[in-house]
Amino acid sequence: MMPERGVPLDHRAEAWERLTRAVNQCVKCPLASGRRNVVFGEGDRLSRLLFVGEAPGLEEDEQGIPFVGKAGQLLNRIFEAADIDRKDIFITNVVKCRPPGNRVPSIEEMLACEDFLKAQIALINPSILVCLGMTSTKWILKTGESISRVRGKWFDWKGIKVMPMFHPSFLLRNQSKKKGSPKDLTWMDIQEVRDRWLECR
Ligand code: SF4
Repeated sequence: MMPERGVPLDHRAEAWERLTRAVNQCVKCPLASGRRNVVFGEGDRLSRLLFVGEAPGLEEDEQGIPFVGKAGQLLNRIFEAADIDRKDIFITNVVKCRPPGNRVPSIEEMLACEDFLKAQIALINPSILVCLGMTSTKWILKTGESISRVRGKWFDWKGIKVMPMFHPSFLLRNQSKKKGSPKDLTWMDIQEVRDRWLECR
């Protein structure tokens, strides 16, 4: 993906409006037929910090808001613990409509949706992008490495600092808080992200 960085500020409101309309009307892939709502993303459109997950789940599809189900609630608790206010960041997903049964979106679906994510990144112009989970990490960084190997590391991607982290739904399945557990590592990762974000705010 090649986002065009730094859309001038005075053009952004209009561009956001056009983009939101286009996403809400989109039928570019088969996921359109099963959705209740498009889940565009939410948060501060001028934030220096962007989180990108995989796809909406059941609750997200019902409400049209990203990360509101169990995984989202866990993510909120992680944010709170790290003193990150969700209102101050932007959160979205690689695809904007729910895949049936919460399966991983197909390559074709991610390709069909790619321009929307590119446009969001261009408009937000973040300094830091956190990939939540393997799908988002693979899609953005084009890496074949497992999430366990790349999480917690910084990558430079088109001038944006990118850090992969475990997806909160993975943390729900791995409840241990022992040293070196996914939850323990995520706690370190989110603090690192917060510290870098504070430096560039
Ligand atoms: Fe369009 Fe993306 Fe929804 Fe597919 S997932 S219908 S490309 S908005």
